[in-house]
Amino acid sequence: MSKPVLGILGGGQLGRMLALAAARLGVRSRVYDPAPDACAGDVAQLVCGSFEDESALARFCAGLDVVTIEFENVPVRAAEIAGQHVPLRPGLESIAIAQDRLHERGVLGRAGFATPVSEAIDSLQDLRDAVARREKPLLLKTRRLGYDGKGQAWVRSVADVEPAWARLGGHPLLLDQGVRFDREISLVAVRGSDGTTVHYPPIENVHREGILWTSRAPAPVDAKTLALARRQLEHMLDRLGYVGVIALEFFETGGLLLANEMAPRVHNSAHWTVDGARTSQFENHVRAVLGLPLGSTEARGWAGMLNLVGTAPPLERLLEDESVHVHLYGKEPRAGRKIGHVNVCEADERSREARMSALGAILEGSNAHVRGAG
Ligand code: AMP
Repeated sequence: MSKPVLGILGGGQLGRMLALAAARLGVRSRVYDPAPDACAGDVAQLVCGSFEDESALARFCAGLDVVTIEFENVPVRAAEIAGQHVPLRPGLESIAIAQDRLHERGVLGRAGFATPVSEAIDSLQDLRDAVARREKPLLLKTRRLGYDGKGQAWVRSVADVEPAWARLGGHPLLLDQGVRFDREISLVAVRGSDGTTVHYPPIENVHREGILWTSRAPAPVDAKTLALARRQLEHMLDRLGYVGVIALEFFETGGLLLANEMAPRVHNSAHWTVDGARTSQFENHVRAVLGLPLGSTEARGWAGMLNLVGTAPPLERLLEDESVHVHLYGKEPRAGRKIGHVNVCEADERSREARMSALGAILEGSNAHVRGAG
């Protein structure tokens, strides 16, 4: 029997980690990316091509068993083309929803989730009116192609209207209530092709300058609140006929979870699962899209994750600590770029935070170097 072949649209670190997990199951991966140095190409067959090149996409799909995505802004038309040749998981509707924040909020709201108060902004006058009328602070976001805090501008008073418009005007926009959240929580689930859904423990996330900095799991979340959110998520996934891993990001405020956005793919906040859960999110995504039984999502204990953003300290330094698992993506260091992460699996409750802080200080030291270098 020939080996199954998994196609992945996008060749970044998520594609790389999916391919590594697939290889363990005897599955070969082929990734599609415009960049000849896409980092998933180190561990999978890389096909270089533009997402607009329909015949190159068709050639890429020849011989694949299934195709998935590794970044949510993959052009919908490219995913559609791929889906005409080979099963696309998750499906086109789920991919399209996550590409428009307004549409996404509508879907989240219809699934029963509370969401931050928001409205569409289509002109400078819309923005002026909304800012005059609404309680501040507000966060103006592009509806499309925003990630890692890109395409966002805070509006704290009417004085911020013109600069925010100068930055983002011309794009379809969403004006969000600035939420004074207590914590940011993500819920990551995986739905198999038979409709079975399993959930990873809740994850607490800290962002810096819009980029994920740390994740910790399992995060304590009120049992009733969690059960309700999981039921709502399952209904949404059933309605979409979703297959694969999905992440939902929430703001927790006064015990209430407000759904901010969804990612129809494996997610940075669940990178800890590689070392800290019985089955990693990457393996479970591969299992789901290939129609295989899902693995246990149970945490082995407590795990923390810190992203390496911009640059990494010397590898030897990170490898000194036995409870630290280093994951480098083979990407060139550049300010603001995610080039790796470290997972910390620490049983001892008293020393966890000390370990996270010590690692944080080491990573911040190396990031400061890149910031300084511009
Ligand atoms: P997003 O691209 O929507 O995930 O936003 C990136 C980060 O910006 C979030 O993880 C939050 O830290 C922050 N953020 C986004 N929307 C809001 C909001 N409505 N209120 C407060 N902070 C926000």
